[in-house]
Amino acid sequence: MKPKILRNVPMGKRYRMIDFEWPDDNAQPGQFVMIRVTDSVDPLLRRPMSIAGLANGRMSIVCAVLGKGTAILSEKSEGDFLDVTGPYGVGFNPPESETALLCVMGGVGTAPFLFLKSRSNKKIIAFYGAADKDGLGIQTKFDEMHFSTVDGSVGTKGLVTDILLAHPEIKNKNAFLLACGPKGMLKAVDQICVREKIQGELSLEERMGCGFGVCLGCMVETDEGNKRVCVEGPVFKAGTVKW
Ligand SMILES: Cc1cc2nc3c(=O)[nH]c(=O)nc-3n(C[C@H](O)[C@H](O)[C@H](O)COP(=O)(O)OP(=O)(O)OC[C@H]3O[C@@H](n4cnc5c(N)ncnc54)[C@H](O)[C@@H]3O)c2cc1C
Repeated sequence: MKPKILRNVPMGKRYRMIDFEWPDDNAQPGQFVMIRVTDSVDPLLRRPMSIAGLANGRMSIVCAVLGKGTAILSEKSEGDFLDVTGPYGVGFNPPESETALLCVMGGVGTAPFLFLKSRSNKKIIAFYGAADKDGLGIQTKFDEMHFSTVDGSVGTKGLVTDILLAHPEIKNKNAFLLACGPKGMLKAVDQICVREKIQGELSLEERMGCGFGVCLGCMVETDEGNKRVCVEGPVFKAGTVKW
């Protein structure tokens, strides 16, 4: 699909919120789209972006500039056209019975939780961590919010897993944990789930080639064998990924 960009605005110093036309409201929080950022051959491959919002003919993504592809994407203007395919992958699927969702998000890993919040009526307790103040630039409001930065510029100084472990809900066996962010954070959250016997799901952000299962570039090892992050993921059950 070649949707028109409706808005491209900064979110703090490090992120851009980009909205574009999207006629179909049918997608699950945790799913992603693949975006081709240029008609030329460089960069050739589409870039995966989590769906951060979808309603009324409009999809939103939050983009952090990392390399060439995300730099080009972030410089697009309102009225420009994108080349977007998807949605792809398996989204979050917390059981109906849980009493609270503990959502652990690192940096731009907040994006799928913006979408989750718009689609869920569950209480969401957010643990939002980054290296510094600018990394916490995604503005949003969950039912309860806890912040951490490695440099201590906002919230508790340290890792997001520190504030997660200090929260009383971590002992609530009916709570359900969801996480999205850098690999090191996901691995630490996974270990907490296993140790505390708390159920959860982790959204992985492996590098991807195609996004729909053909190139096998995003394989991860799980206790059920090798899985493609783009098709069997990006969301995996806690305790199943072999890090
Ligand atoms: C399922 C999924 C959802 C994603 N959602 C978002 C999102 O909502 N917002 C967002 O800003 N980004 C998201 N990403 C990451 C985003 O796709 C990459 O940052 C982007 O593809 C990098 O492209 P680039 O051309 O800018 O950088 P490149 O030039 O390709 O790479 C620059 C540097 O970043 C590293 N890198 C590239 N991709 C990744 C990755 N996936 N994980 C870790 N390191 C990487 C490279 O190794 C290299 O060092 C997501 C990734 C996945 C797999």
